[in-house]
Amino acid sequence: MVGARRGGRVDGVTDGAHERVAGVEHWVGDLDALRDEIVACRACPRLVAWREAVGQRPPARFQGEVYWARPVPGFGDPAARILLVGLAPAAHGGNRTGRVFTGDASGDFLWAALHAVGLANQPTGRRADDGLSLQGVYVAAAVRCAPPANRPTPAERARCLPFLVREMALLGELRVVVPLGAIAWAAALAALERLGERVPRPRPAFGHGREVNIGRYVVLGSYHVSQQNTFTGRLTPPMFRAILARAKAMADLR
Ligand code: SF4
Repeated sequence: MVGARRGGRVDGVTDGAHERVAGVEHWVGDLDALRDEIVACRACPRLVAWREAVGQRPPARFQGEVYWARPVPGFGDPAARILLVGLAPAAHGGNRTGRVFTGDASGDFLWAALHAVGLANQPTGRRADDGLSLQGVYVAAAVRCAPPANRPTPAERARCLPFLVREMALLGELRVVVPLGAIAWAAALAALERLGERVPRPRPAFGHGREVNIGRYVVLGSYHVSQQNTFTGRLTPPMFRAILARAKAMADLR
């Protein structure tokens, strides 16, 4: 098990980092246990109410579907060298299907690009049981519950951050973190700091294609794969494939 706890420490995390992470409640030693803990979380009353209300009143196109309506954990290869960090599940995407970026236009864009560069076994991901698997990459989010208007509050972002910290600690092969957008960028830097890495102050600003070396990691920014960006041409498939190809190269993945 990658990143399994051993003798009270976590593989891939330095002693100093472990001491800093140890303050996170219910520290657990593997991704499966962390996944269970994420899915059961009800720490943010506003988001719990929203994620459940959305599932109870689906739009016409999803009438009759049973929504997941719970937090959405990370998904991918436990031996990942690349981590993509989104913002939060979409109300009718991940919040409906139970898997990150699954069942909406953002996911259609993301999975097609991952497949095109050889990081996914298929170009689509529409349902959690569709056989999609990732090689060398893991996909998570800064916030695990769908927020109203896609806008989590600063307090909700802070409350959810420990899940990202722990996922990153448990991805023992991780080298390249690709935050999608400015909020994910801030979460990734905060998570690295919580892992004991020295993050520059003032914090480097987000930029598409911006690279920052932090300890043994590289943080590589990308515009988010939201419809707002992909439908307007701000982020095109070639642009995003170039980001993924750069991440692969830095992660030494072929
Ligand atoms: S956003 Fe994160 S911390 Fe808040 S309820 Fe959802 S999983 Fe829990």
